[in-house]
Amino acid sequence: MYCRPVIDPGTKPPASPAGPPIDWATLRAAATAAAARAYAPYSHVHVGAAGLSAAGDLVEGSNVENASYGLTLCAECGLVSDLARHGGGRLVAVSIVAGDGDPVAPCGRCRQLLFEHGGAELLVDDGTPAPARRLADLLPEAFGPTDLVTRRS
Ligand SMILES: [Zn+2]
Repeated sequence: MYCRPVIDPGTKPPASPAGPPIDWATLRAAATAAAARAYAPYSHVHVGAAGLSAAGDLVEGSNVENASYGLTLCAECGLVSDLARHGGGRLVAVSIVAGDGDPVAPCGRCRQLLFEHGGAELLVDDGTPAPARRLADLLPEAFGPTDLVTRRS
């Protein structure tokens, strides 16, 4: 479980607002399996991510480190690439875990990456029994694709 502010359970979103049913246990298990396939010879922090698309596809990714460090790809990068490989669409739920199987928060870059493909309502596993946090809670007032259109001068 990662550090997060206390949220009133009554304010949590439904498990699946107008999308496919979300099986969080399956998502977390897929993320854990993906973590086992990570390439992390430098940090030794294996991370896996699994997501559910609006079309019902399960997409996965693992972190892939690089000797340059700066070129390291987070598991969410692989997940979004897998989403594109499945034909694209929107993510509705993601679980990101470390090698121990416990959820970890996406880094700042990946919050932006996930916003592009899941939006503010994307549900993120936070390790609680009802593991649904909106991405908007992790990335408030996000800059997104619509800003590129509406903010042109
Ligand atoms: Zn990241």
